[in-house]
Amino acid sequence: MTATATAPNPLREGLDTQRISDPCTIVFFGASGDLFKRMLLPSIYELRQRGTLPTNFALVGFARSQYDDDGFRAYCKEQLDQFAYGAKPDGAMWDDFAKCIRYVTADFGDTSHFEALKRILEENDRDLKTGGNRLFYLSTPPSVFPGIIDQLQKAGLDPKSNPKGWTRIVVEKPFGTDLASARALQTEVEKVFDEGQVYRIDHYLGKEPVQDIMALRFANVIFEPIWNRNYVQSVQITAAETLGVEGRGGYYDSAGALRDMIQNHVMNLLALVAMEPPATADADAIRNEKFKVFASIQPPALADVPKMAVRGQYDAGLIDGKPVPSYRTEPDVNPKSDTETYAAVKLFVENWRWAGVPFYLRSGKRLARKVSEIAVTFKNIPHRFYGEKTDEIDPNVLVIKIQPDEGVSLRFEAKVPGQKSHIRTVSMDFNYGTGFGVQSPPAYERLIADAMRGDQTLFTRWDAVQRAWEIVTPIQQSWQNATPTFPNYGAGSQGPHGATQLFDDWRTL
Ligand code: NDP
Repeated sequence: MTATATAPNPLREGLDTQRISDPCTIVFFGASGDLFKRMLLPSIYELRQRGTLPTNFALVGFARSQYDDDGFRAYCKEQLDQFAYGAKPDGAMWDDFAKCIRYVTADFGDTSHFEALKRILEENDRDLKTGGNRLFYLSTPPSVFPGIIDQLQKAGLDPKSNPKGWTRIVVEKPFGTDLASARALQTEVEKVFDEGQVYRIDHYLGKEPVQDIMALRFANVIFEPIWNRNYVQSVQITAAETLGVEGRGGYYDSAGALRDMIQNHVMNLLALVAMEPPATADADAIRNEKFKVFASIQPPALADVPKMAVRGQYDAGLIDGKPVPSYRTEPDVNPKSDTETYAAVKLFVENWRWAGVPFYLRSGKRLARKVSEIAVTFKNIPHRFYGEKTDEIDPNVLVIKIQPDEGVSLRFEAKVPGQKSHIRTVSMDFNYGTGFGVQSPPAYERLIADAMRGDQTLFTRWDAVQRAWEIVTPIQQSWQNATPTFPNYGAGSQGPHGATQLFDDWRTL
């Protein structure tokens, strides 16, 4: 399948240049960190090159590492030389961009450093005409989030002290490590910011194929009539990686697959698959429907957890033919760690549309293949009169491919050419790259642009975050109460054997 040649093609024509934000300064707390250099800075620079940043724009880095403004500009150039995914920093474009970069070397507990930030923001408003609009991006370890929010208020950088323009905050994941810590963080956030000023990042929501789930369901008439318990047998959502912890062992060992992937990214995919059509494209109309999905999932009783959740941890094995070590021997990981690197969960959305349809979610590291996808398996045909007796007639499966392939594939049965009436499974495929002629922009680019524009559609609302934690909390508790037999799957495998007891029809990785 390809996009119709005559149809307008927003991807081919570049991002929608009408949707440029107001003038603003974006402040990155944690600007010397990994996420900033690999994702955030390259996204901003690409937005500049696409003409999607406002003309009156400024960037301020804020972290503990020592830089002056010129030193930080040189650091940014160095990182862009390595990580920019469009044009590299050069010539007038870079010179112009570099002029709007400033830096504050900060002790995060020292209010005077936040006051120094305030002076820079006021200078930007005066010299660069940034209009008093401020976007604070928290890209530090989550333990520092409450302290930053508190200091913003002490230094008079909170929204109420800024009547001239808007003040918004972007909060990186994870939003809490369990229900109690998420609630504690929210208490700090809402002391200073209203919900309409808070942008909780789940970068999966910025991926084009994830945004396309709603378009597929609600901009076509053919899927919605069968998108329910009458026709759907099960839904499988997979987020599998071949990578291990990649230098982030310290963080991962305190997180694990359930917290790191299932509670946020995978649950958000589930919401998009299961939600009712919103009345409008308004951010809250969409987020209301997503929340209703989570409200329809009952947190399991502790005693039921072993029947609906399986965990695993990888042992040494082979990835792409190369030996890789076990999780417990990765740097910064406790050699006796019981942290799961694989989690599979079976949930039911208990409402009129989905009653009785199992949703199987799984995510893991060091698995056989990198793949994120949603597979909707339909029921079998009610009466068979076609095909040879030996032919398998498989159910139809619609697969929404998120990464590394991006697209949609429909598996259906077809007659094999010839005298006999043989039936075989074939597939119809749509691929973003070939369909639209360009690759999708990275998620962070879209999300940063949306936060600057004040569009919260692709950000997670507090009620949904809280409900997702409520759903996974009994699983966390049950797992904490029992010592697992780890490691229980080899690197490069399909995952732990127990996952097949939960569901015997996982798609092969
Ligand atoms: P890093 O550890 O690489 O960077 C942390 C940044 O925060 C540094 O700039 C550091 O400053 C600053 N910082 C301030 N206070 C502290 C403190 N008390 N302890 C440690 N660092 C401090 O983290 P990442 O960039 O990897 O992650 C940032 C956020 O983004 C986290 O919330 C993470 O969960 C999230 N995230 C990261 C992803 C990634 O791929 N890296 C992916 C998804 C989310 P300095 O070094 O100058 O002291």
